[in-house]
Amino acid sequence: MPIDILKDDLATALKKLQAKENSFMLLENITKLGSWEIDLVTKKSIWSDQSYLNYGYKVGEVEPTLELFLSHLVPEDLPRAQQTLAKIMQSGEVESFECRLTKESGETINLLLHGQVIYDEEKKPFKLIGTTQDVTHKVTLEKNSAALSELVEYSANEIYVLEYETLNILYANQSACKTIGYTFEELLGLTIFDINVDLSLEKVELLKKVYAETQKTISNRALRLRKDGTTYHVQSYIHELSYYHTKALVIFSTDITEIVQAEEQILKQSEQISFKENYDSLTSLPNRNLFQDRLSQSIIHAQHSNHHFALLFIDLDQFKKINDSLGHTLGDRVIIEVACRLNALTDSEDTVARLGGDEFAIILNNIKKIQYISAITNKIIDAIKEPIKIDAHTLYMTASIGISLYPEDSADANDLTKFADAAMYKAKDEGRNNFRFYSSEMTQLAFEKVIMENSLLQAIKENQFLVYFQPQYNVLTDKIIGMEALVRWRHPDLGIIPPGKFLSIAHESGLILEIDKIVMHEAMRRFAQWYRDSLEPGKLSLNLTMAQLNSKDFVSDLLDTMQKLDFQTHWLELEVLESHIMSNPEESIQKLNALDKLGINIAIDDFGTGYSSLSYLKKLPIKKLKIDRSFIMDIPHDEDDMAITKAIIALGTSLNLKIIAEGVEEKSQKEFLIRNGCYFIQGYLYSKPIPADEITLLLKNSSH
Ligand code: C2E
Ligand code: MG
Ligand code: MG
Repeated sequence: MPIDILKDDLATALKKLQAKENSFMLLENITKLGSWEIDLVTKKSIWSDQSYLNYGYKVGEVEPTLELFLSHLVPEDLPRAQQTLAKIMQSGEVESFECRLTKESGETINLLLHGQVIYDEEKKPFKLIGTTQDVTHKVTLEKNSAALSELVEYSANEIYVLEYETLNILYANQSACKTIGYTFEELLGLTIFDINVDLSLEKVELLKKVYAETQKTISNRALRLRKDGTTYHVQSYIHELSYYHTKALVIFSTDITEIVQAEEQILKQSEQISFKENYDSLTSLPNRNLFQDRLSQSIIHAQHSNHHFALLFIDLDQFKKINDSLGHTLGDRVIIEVACRLNALTDSEDTVARLGGDEFAIILNNIKKIQYISAITNKIIDAIKEPIKIDAHTLYMTASIGISLYPEDSADANDLTKFADAAMYKAKDEGRNNFRFYSSEMTQLAFEKVIMENSLLQAIKENQFLVYFQPQYNVLTDKIIGMEALVRWRHPDLGIIPPGKFLSIAHESGLILEIDKIVMHEAMRRFAQWYRDSLEPGKLSLNLTMAQLNSKDFVSDLLDTMQKLDFQTHWLELEVLESHIMSNPEESIQKLNALDKLGINIAIDDFGTGYSSLSYLKKLPIKKLKIDRSFIMDIPHDEDDMAITKAIIALGTSLNLKIIAEGVEEKSQKEFLIRNGCYFIQGYLYSKPIPADEITLLLKNSSH
């Protein structure tokens, strides 16, 4: 059995095991370490079992010779093998060499060979002995790891290896050095904190903890700091590894600055888009969109906290005129100025929004007192009234404001909006430059209005109007001196509707002209008949609106009707409301003079409520004052009303006018009037307004 020798100590160990064949075999097997010897005298070779196996043979299968061994070597490796053998023979020392050997099977392996000369007692070379080991696996590994190091070194990614505890940089590849701007040597003196902005120890600890728990590569975004002070964004992958026997972290980083910039750009754009969606570009105030959001939020908040809030709709009065006369650019600047003023008057918790055009809305949150709303609304009105100076122009704006209240008016966003809008239109209707609250009564009215308007049209078409008459009396003789014609609407479903319920709508829609024509015709027809029947109805009092007086066909229509019906001019008296006359006195004087010339008497209706100026009273061609019912009503209890009534009587008397009191219901009222010189009376005390047929009976009875 040959003795295999590796190194001195191994040889010793092998000697000890010589006797134990099994152990020896085992060792050969594990190490794949075969042995061989060549007798330098006989030139005969011996191979150990493992050597046979290493060369690709079964044990004892072939005659072992040096030539056979050499014939299996990869041709390029053959010269080096021969050189090494020659060197061994020459020096006698242990030499080793690696070579590649192709087995009979065609498989090529890497072999590590050791060889040494053995001398006899006379110090003559006597044997060449050596070992042979299959090191293919090791060579492959070495090759791979060299390739890997190269891959790391020349990778386009920046790669750092950090000492696990201190985070000192132990390694940085070429790409890292190039990107960060430090040399490899400089980097070795730095820690990861020196090349990162905003990286804290806490963050690193957290990342380590996550790694420990998941055992997965961690990804992290960071901002790198170059040597020159500039920064760039990186996406890093962090992994734990053992580096030269110490625990280390390896970081692979990719520059993602462009990606981050693109992301920021997208974010900015989407912010811009969302700004556009939610804000008005001219004033930067929330637009209708955001306003609706805020309104819903206010409702939710108010519901939870039991708070009240107010919704204001603000519309600039006659803003269109500014746009039309001075141009849109200037109009825009007015809007901007108004937006600033509104903003300045409200709290941060309130919302000022521009709903479009010259329309703004304010949500006044957390209202404790209704007075607060009026106060702030007045402030807004005053603020808008302040002159607006733009370039050479000084502009005077006013606004109309409508207010709805949560939860008094509604708890619903749509309704609150609708109601504030309706209230705003009411404010406009009632003269602009003011504000109106919405209320549930107003809701009713607004809805009724639409229905009314439609059914009024129908009523005119189908002639659903009746004329009632209310007689007027001379209290000294108890004789009828005339009758006031009062319209009634016989509604097919609702029955008789008094004028107070539909006249204002008839006014607004202009339908009053038609209605008054109908009333005029019907009343005159009846009067003409009564006169023909010699029932002496006195004068016919017709209520007249200024609109009617102003319509150009009125006088000709009137004359036409009188002629057709055989109605005489002196039977007629026209009642015009004091407030109507005084809203445009000059024009009224003209119009009424024309009627006066025709011989038609004019009476001022509802006198005392319309702030007549004495000078006009004198100029007006009037024959009669009708003291308004509101003064008569509280006689004899209300001292003020009695004083006013006395004054009106005195005034009328001094102007040589007839004076009639309307709404007389009590005997005491009649007595007071007589005592103070008013002898004409119209009121329930004598008669309510009644249908024409009843009047006929009344007239017939009183003529007896
Ligand atoms: P007015 O011209 O002042 O008419 C008098 C109103 O007082 C009438 O109301 C009459 O019914 C009411 N009245 C008279 N005496 C008494 C009384 O003793 N007690 C009470 N509580 N009320 C009394 P009515 O008929 O409801 O008419 C209301 C107003 O509608 C009228 O006020 C008038 O301004 C207007 N009007 C009525 N008919 C016409 C019409 O055909 N054309 C126009 N343009 N207006 C009309
Ligand atoms: Mg009247
Ligand atoms: Mg009246």
